[in-house]
Amino acid sequence: MSTQYTPEATIAHWIDGKVVHEPGSRTQDIFNPATGAVVRQVQLASAKTVLQAIASAQAAFPAWANTPPIRRARILDKFLQLLNQHKDQLAAILTQEHGKVFSDAQGEVTRGIDIVEFACGAPQLLKGDYTEQVSTDIDNWTVRQPLGVVAGITPFNFPCMVPMWMYPMAIACGNTFILKPSERDPSVSLYMAQLLKEAGLPDGVFNVVQGDKLSVDTLIEHEEVRALSFVGSTPIAQYIYQTGASHGKRVQALGGAKNHMVVMPDADMEAAIDGLIGAAYGSAGERCMAISVAVLVGNVADQIVPRLAERARALKIGNGMQPENEMGPVITRQALERIEGYIAAGVAQGATLVVDGRDTKVKGHEKGFFVGGTLFDHVTPEMTIYKEEIFGPVLVCVRVASLEEAITLIHSHEFGNGVSCYTSDGHVAREFSRRIQVGMVGINVPIPVPMAWHGFGGWKKSLFGDMHAYGEEGVRFYTKQKSIMQRWPETIGAGAEFSMPVAK
Ligand code: NAD
Repeated sequence: MSTQYTPEATIAHWIDGKVVHEPGSRTQDIFNPATGAVVRQVQLASAKTVLQAIASAQAAFPAWANTPPIRRARILDKFLQLLNQHKDQLAAILTQEHGKVFSDAQGEVTRGIDIVEFACGAPQLLKGDYTEQVSTDIDNWTVRQPLGVVAGITPFNFPCMVPMWMYPMAIACGNTFILKPSERDPSVSLYMAQLLKEAGLPDGVFNVVQGDKLSVDTLIEHEEVRALSFVGSTPIAQYIYQTGASHGKRVQALGGAKNHMVVMPDADMEAAIDGLIGAAYGSAGERCMAISVAVLVGNVADQIVPRLAERARALKIGNGMQPENEMGPVITRQALERIEGYIAAGVAQGATLVVDGRDTKVKGHEKGFFVGGTLFDHVTPEMTIYKEEIFGPVLVCVRVASLEEAITLIHSHEFGNGVSCYTSDGHVAREFSRRIQVGMVGINVPIPVPMAWHGFGGWKKSLFGDMHAYGEEGVRFYTKQKSIMQRWPETIGAGAEFSMPVAK
C-alpha cells in the first residue's frame, strides 16, 4: 500500500517533484464549508515561484517528450492503480474543502479516473497517418508532437476531476504541465502530485502553483508556456482566451452555464422529477452541468411543480461526510450571500418563490454555509434569475406552450453548455438533439457529461476556443501536427523544378 497524503497546515506548491514553500508568502484561508471553520491555509504564489515552476517544467520537457509514448502510458497506468487505491482518501478531502456529499465526491474521482484510463491509450492516438507513394518515390506522413510546457487553471467545483480533464492527456502526449488549482480547495492537487511521483513520473513533468490572478497572469505572459487550458466562470474564461491569444498561445477556455431541461407532456413524469431534483440540487447546484432551468411544456408545470416543491423541501441537507445527507453546503459565505441575493432579486422581479432555501440552519453546523433547495415558478426570460448563472441550489421553472417555444428560449440564452429533454417521442428527441444550439445534449438523461473518449465542451459563452476538453480533442489540443515528406530515389532527380509540384 502506498503512502497516504495528509494535508499540511499550509498548502504550498509542488515544483520539481517536491513540496515547495515560499517564505513570507501571501496566504488565504481554506474553509470546511459544512462547519464554517478555517481548516488550513494556502499560499498564493509570487511571480518568482511561478517562474521556478516554469523553469522546472521547461527543463523536464526534452527528456519527457523523447520518452516513448508507451513508457509514458505505463507511468499513467501505475498512477491509475494508485488513484484507485486512494480514491476514498481523495474524496474525503474533496468533501472537507468543497462540501459536496462523500458519494458525490467519490463519483467525481471516478470520472477523473476515466480520463486517466483513456490517456493510457494515447500511443494509439499519437501514431499519425501515412501515405505511401504520394508521388513517384515520395511518401508523406503526419506525426503529432508535444507543445512543450502547458498550463491548466481550474475552478473550485471539481478540484480533482477538472484538472484530470487536462494533465493526463497533456502528459501522455509528451508535454510538461503546470496546474494552478482553485485557491478555495487546493489540497487534492498535492495529493495527485504525490501519487504521480510515486507512479514514477520524472520530476518537473507535473508541477502545481497555488495562487490567484498574479500566478495566472504570470503563466499567460510567459513565452515558454505554449498552451492554456482553463475552466471557470465566463468573464475569466473570456479574459484568459483573449489575453492568452494575444500572447500567441493555444487556449481552450471553458466558461459558465445555465442548463435547461425541457419536459414534454409525453415524458415519464416520475423520471423527469427525479432527473430535475438530482440535477438541480446535487452538489448544491455547483456543477457547470447542473440543471438550473426547467422548461415545462403545456400542462407539465401544473402536474410537476407541486411534486418538485415537496421533494425540494424534503432534501436532506448537512455535512457531506454523513451518509444520510443528499446535499452539502455551498463553497463560501460570499457564495451563500450571492445566492441569497439572487433569490431576493427573483422575488423582487415578480417570480413565484415556491420553496425558499434562505436561512437554512443545520443542527450542530450553525456556522456552515448552507442554502436549502430553492424553487421558483412563473419565471420569465427578462428576470435576472433566468439570465445569470446562480451556481447554487436554485431551480427556476419557465412555462412554455410548445417544443418550438422551448427551443427558441434556449437559443436566446447566452450560454450553451448542457441541455436535456425528457420525452417518450422519438421524433421529438431526434429533432431536439439535431437542432439545439448547445454543446452537450441529454435525452432522458439529466446531466449528459460525455465519457472520457468523447470530449467535453459547451457552445456560445460556455467555451472560448475551438477544441473541447479530453478525448481525441484533448490529443489534438496538446499536440501539433507535423507533416513529413521524404524521397529516397535510386538516382538523383532530373534537376530543378520551377512549377508547383504535383503527383507524378
Ligand atoms: P472562477 O472563474 O472564479 O475561477 C476559476 C479559476 O480562475 C481559479 O483557478 C481562479 O483562481 C482563477 N481566477 C479567478 N479570478 C481570476 C482573474 N481575475 N484572473 C485570472 N484568474 C482568475 O470560477 P470558480 O468560481 O472557481 O468556478 C465556478 C465557475 O466555473 C462557474 O461559472 C462554472 O459554471 C464554471 N465551470 C465551468 C465548467 C465547464 O466545463 N464549462 C466546469 C466547471 C466549472
